[in-house]
Amino acid sequence: MTSSPKKNLFLLPLLLAALTAPSRNIPAQGPPQKPNVLLITLDTTRADHLACYGHPTAETPTLDGLAARGVLFEQAITPIPVTDPAHITLFTGLSPDEHGVYENGIVLEKDPPTLAGLLAANGYDTAAFVSVKHLLTDGYLRGFKTVDGDFSSPERFAEDTTDRALRRLEKTGPAPFFLWVHYFDPHAPYFPPERFRRERSPGAVRFETYLALRRQTPGYLSRGITPEEKTAASALLQTHPEADISFFRLTEEDNAVIESWYLGEIAHVDSQLSRIVSLLQQRRLLDDTVVILVGDHGETLRESSHVGQRFRHGSEVYDRQIRVPLIISYPKVLPSGRRIAEQVRLADVLPTLLGLLGIENKSPMDGVDVLASAAPPDLPAYSYSVRQHFECVRTNEFKLLRDGFNDRMLLFDLKNDPAELTDVKGRRPDVFSDLSEKLARWKQKRGASLRKGDVDPHVLENLKDLGYLR
Ligand SMILES: [Zn+2]
Repeated sequence: MTSSPKKNLFLLPLLLAALTAPSRNIPAQGPPQKPNVLLITLDTTRADHLACYGHPTAETPTLDGLAARGVLFEQAITPIPVTDPAHITLFTGLSPDEHGVYENGIVLEKDPPTLAGLLAANGYDTAAFVSVKHLLTDGYLRGFKTVDGDFSSPERFAEDTTDRALRRLEKTGPAPFFLWVHYFDPHAPYFPPERFRRERSPGAVRFETYLALRRQTPGYLSRGITPEEKTAASALLQTHPEADISFFRLTEEDNAVIESWYLGEIAHVDSQLSRIVSLLQQRRLLDDTVVILVGDHGETLRESSHVGQRFRHGSEVYDRQIRVPLIISYPKVLPSGRRIAEQVRLADVLPTLLGLLGIENKSPMDGVDVLASAAPPDLPAYSYSVRQHFECVRTNEFKLLRDGFNDRMLLFDLKNDPAELTDVKGRRPDVFSDLSEKLARWKQKRGASLRKGDVDPHVLENLKDLGYLR
């Protein structure tokens, strides 16, 4: 499978537009023999909290700039709102049930072809820059020649990861490079640097400082927390080591401040990414680099109907947790500023990139090359969380969601109700019936792919409760 005929099909609307609009540039040449590949994964980043996805106050000029010179997917869906499984889907083009990693830290025992392995086999110099320890689990990083994940705390800041990636980029050799840079900062606790943290409230400080201490991420406490605030949070942790969010009695003001800090973390990541983009520009490498920006999952902020799910992920499959940013920028081949409204899935990223690079793939994958035709194929997206018993099937227009927490099925009209507030199954029994059938078939398939021996006992209980195993 080579990409050129299909790419021509994809480019047809652009070429036709160019014929009638002489000022628009027609791509004058095909891709260079082997463009570099820069994959940026944006942990815990909601699509709707970037300016290029319509957020009114987000400060994301670098991401917006890359979107303006590339293709932005408005509905990119993760199969599971959990870091490791979502990343393994990106790396293998397989759904979590096929690759077998559906929780953080589960070893990848299967040996499917991986993105890094396929690129290494095609002459790429491959390097990974990871910002959280559990992404170093056995099997995840097959195919990477070098892995930079040597830090003492469980996670590291974007500036540190960026420093390391820049050092590497400064001495790239003649071989094309594949660099994966993972940014973890928007994950809770939210402590952006001072310039991205303009608001403050005692409740927000108390909650985030407690979280930072509990997660043993002391680096966060150096960002604007006073010794008194740290001492108070330490005392609280001693007396209430497992306090949940309801314990903190956050006010609406606290919630708003916490959300502004989350936006601050995204703005901070954007500013660090700008250093990488600048270096690529300085070294005249940007035009010969395919840049892919993608989230692993989103985050529930203030809007959860049950308080325990605020400011976290992995717990439900509303769009706030499963709709992620996806931008592919490579102006030599792809149009600039194109927005694709149709739904795509994280599993599609790998086959799409291979198509773009003209690399043949013979292994079966769940994903498809979504740039191979004028519009992505109309395929349902499935997503689930074993932690809180949520699952869904999603199309371009509707989502059927099983809320196992409250034991109910909900149908949402995504076009008219993007916040997923109104259940329309009474009004659309036809859609409800069709999606119920799809969800049931998917569950049947999933049940067959999981075996008892693959699953740790804790997760096994959840899976049994969900009806996946007997
Ligand atoms: Zn994550």
